[in-house]
Amino acid sequence: MSRVFNFSAGPAALPEKVLRQAADEMLDWHGAGCGVMEMSHRGQHFTGIIERAEADLRELLAVPDNYRVLFLQGGATQHFAQIPMNLLGGASADYVVTGGWSQKAFEMGSALAPHIGARVRLAATSAEDGFRDVPRAFDCDDAAAYLHLCTNETVHGVEFLDPAQLPDTPAPLVADMSSHILSRPMDVTRFGMIYAGAQKNIGPSGLVVVIVREDLLDRAWAGTPAVMSYRTMADNGSMLNTPATYSIYIAGLVFQWLLGEGGLAAIERRNIDKAQRLYAYIDASGFYRNEVEPAARSRMNVPFLLADTRLEGDFLAGAQAAGLAQLKGHKSVGGMRASIYNAMPVAGVDALIEYMREFARTRG
Ligand SMILES: *Cc1c(COP(=O)(O)O)cnc(C)c1O
Repeated sequence: MSRVFNFSAGPAALPEKVLRQAADEMLDWHGAGCGVMEMSHRGQHFTGIIERAEADLRELLAVPDNYRVLFLQGGATQHFAQIPMNLLGGASADYVVTGGWSQKAFEMGSALAPHIGARVRLAATSAEDGFRDVPRAFDCDDAAAYLHLCTNETVHGVEFLDPAQLPDTPAPLVADMSSHILSRPMDVTRFGMIYAGAQKNIGPSGLVVVIVREDLLDRAWAGTPAVMSYRTMADNGSMLNTPATYSIYIAGLVFQWLLGEGGLAAIERRNIDKAQRLYAYIDASGFYRNEVEPAARSRMNVPFLLADTRLEGDFLAGAQAAGLAQLKGHKSVGGMRASIYNAMPVAGVDALIEYMREFARTRG
């Protein structure tokens, strides 16, 4: 067996320790006589698994008691639709657009709002400068039902790094944190709702973690189907229907791994170190470049361009041969992208830098 350093943006690398434990428990989970994939979601074993996962997540993020934790499905994309259905009522919502994902959320909100007697507005966008920075000014509606933003843009590599960069509005912030949740401590109380597709920093795809303030659960559009209602899911322990049981189990193992690594403050130190090494090399190289404003450069997703785009194919083939996988940038922006989530060790970043240095030396 030989594992590569996997720079995929998602589904992304998982901690090897977690994968080994899951392999060990695949056929017989703790003497249950079957694996987690094969057990009832309502039985005592799985009940224990989901309860522990929630407790560990609450501990990691210091989630206050007046927030509910939901383990849902549909990908973050489906929640671009569920959020207006559940939180918008007949009011107006603000959207901040800082890249491809928040753009999609805004488009979904815009398409849906008229059908549920509501409206959406654009409070800020950084589209004019090619999504190279977070907005420095916001035109917020104080009466908005919520303000939606994506705190880490996976494709464009733009992150709200400093809480002072967040819009200052009385409206509850609703944040798509899919690609940087658990990468550092976050002040949950700053948000009305946080949501994240699992396949970047939490676990396998098929699971979305939602952390939502209790008082926001009673504003749903009357036509919201039960299976899409956060209130109904909260009242049923995320089990109105069968949840993504195996994904929840793996997420739980990842939460335990994070606690064992020292929690989010320890993970943040490592993530800062990894990101600094890579950006410092890119900036000094004279061959590669990252065009994002330094104060908004994502610690998780590092897009970069080669001095000559004709070398991209060779760069990727050589990287693959060197055990550095999935470095191709998103099709909408081109170039390269190194996703360096929690599970990417420092050694993987060092190996990438070494390869980049050698490629620039011989081909630059
Ligand atoms: C990956 C991603 C999504 C989409 O996730 P799906 O599971 O494909 O719906 C949405 N937002 C962000 C920030 C992402 O990184």
